[in-house]
Amino acid sequence: MTTQELPNWLKQRAFLTPDRTALTNGDVEYTFGELWEKAISIGEQLHTIVKHSSHPFLGLMIKNKVESVFLVHAIQQLGFTTVLLNNKLSENELSFQIQDMGLGTVIYDDEFAGKLSFLGGEVEGVSFSQLFGTDPTRFEVKDHFQLDQACSVMYTSGTTGAPKGVLQSYGNHWWSAIGSSLNLGITENDTWLCSVPLFHISGYSILMRSVVYGMNVRLFETFDVEGINRELMSGNVTIMSVVSNMLSRLMKDMGDETYHPRFRCMLLGGGPAPLPLLQKCKENGVPVFQTYGMTETASQIVTLSPEYSMSKLGSAGKPLFPSELKIKNEEGTAKANQEGEILVKGPNVTTGYYRREEANAKSFESGWFHTGDIGYMDEEGFLFVLDRRSDLIISGGENVYPAEIESVLLSCDGVEDAGVAGITSDEWGQVPCAFIVKKDHLTKEDIITHCEKNLASYKRPKKIVFVDELPRNASNKLLRRVLREQWEKGMVADED
Ligand code: ATP
Ligand code: MG
Repeated sequence: MTTQELPNWLKQRAFLTPDRTALTNGDVEYTFGELWEKAISIGEQLHTIVKHSSHPFLGLMIKNKVESVFLVHAIQQLGFTTVLLNNKLSENELSFQIQDMGLGTVIYDDEFAGKLSFLGGEVEGVSFSQLFGTDPTRFEVKDHFQLDQACSVMYTSGTTGAPKGVLQSYGNHWWSAIGSSLNLGITENDTWLCSVPLFHISGYSILMRSVVYGMNVRLFETFDVEGINRELMSGNVTIMSVVSNMLSRLMKDMGDETYHPRFRCMLLGGGPAPLPLLQKCKENGVPVFQTYGMTETASQIVTLSPEYSMSKLGSAGKPLFPSELKIKNEEGTAKANQEGEILVKGPNVTTGYYRREEANAKSFESGWFHTGDIGYMDEEGFLFVLDRRSDLIISGGENVYPAEIESVLLSCDGVEDAGVAGITSDEWGQVPCAFIVKKDHLTKEDIITHCEKNLASYKRPKKIVFVDELPRNASNKLLRRVLREQWEKGMVADED
């Protein structure tokens, strides 16, 4: 064995702690020994289907079900690279990704048969029920995983442009799991609640941590707010991953109750966290750990350690132990509190996008990855993420960050949802325009008064537009580029 390989993770885990619980869903429970058996038996069925395939990649479209977890492991055991398809994508978006990766086979949950009905010809579609009814063929189980081998491909969310396929190696997942554990610690009683999608790095990384740590995953098929809150109050789970929208729904439902003391970490990432939400969690004693990460960093790369969660409210924290961080502006590496692009480095960072030479040339420089996000580090090295570089508004020479304005707007009574984008102004170059989804009797004057109290004048929206809903992508992220487009094309009206 060289240092470039590790023992086959699931095989090793099933050998080390076969009777520990690996996975639960409702009343169903699997130990690591059982998970290993499932991965091999389903692997043997899959082998019958793909054994003559010359494609290194295998498409997978899943929901958060135990069978999906078996398949994730089965594909690893067979030595294919899994291309995880986001099940919320439209037919056109899916078709683009399937062609972009040159897939020969897509395995899918039966529920997506309709959505994938366009498959055929060069790309074979295999449903779960077809797969589970196939005769098995034995295959040789490898004793080792090569750290530089591509384990998975996930597309970026496509918030700033067309999604790009990110190659994630076994080494990326390994170091991501190790980095996270060096920050959060691991105990043998840990259970990680997973209601974030398994096809996204937030969910997939929980499965990898589970095997590496020997930790139970409590899987939820849907984001069942009441059921999840009950779980967090019962003491059954100790850690959960959320994005801010999920967290605010949990907080709304929580009322005056508190979570069980055994629940030790609410890992919040995926996008900017509105300050009012963080404040509310603080009041309710919810242990929020803000994190910053992306598909390209195989999950978190920066996290706020528990001892700073209150004193550095709003910060995404410091890099995980194996990773590094720097801020770059026109003059070079920025000083403390100076804004610039966030650059990251570490063994969890992808080696590149699949077949995207231009993006690769732009994004990687002497081992550093350019995230496309803007932020700053304070004197102590805590990162504050401001926004996406492409969404930055420069108004009269001042940098204005839509996320900051959105956070203020969301704290205004009667605002259901808010998005901010820069629009052209003869006087200032660009000015912020607010797109608001309102609840009941909100007027523009109410919003203006609220902004006057909370924002410097150059940051206040110069236009306010009421809309029925905001454009979001399949990851539920706000598409500010679409807001800008809608404004420029006159698709939204500026009426009183
Ligand atoms: P695309 O790269 O195609 O535009 P995307 O960047 O939204 O899509 P993801 O990899 O899912 O795709 O998301 C990562 C991005 O989410 C980060 O680059 C950052 O902009 C945002 N993000 C993640 N965590 C935070 C955070 N704590 N604060 C602010 N933004 C965050
Ligand atoms: Mg991105």
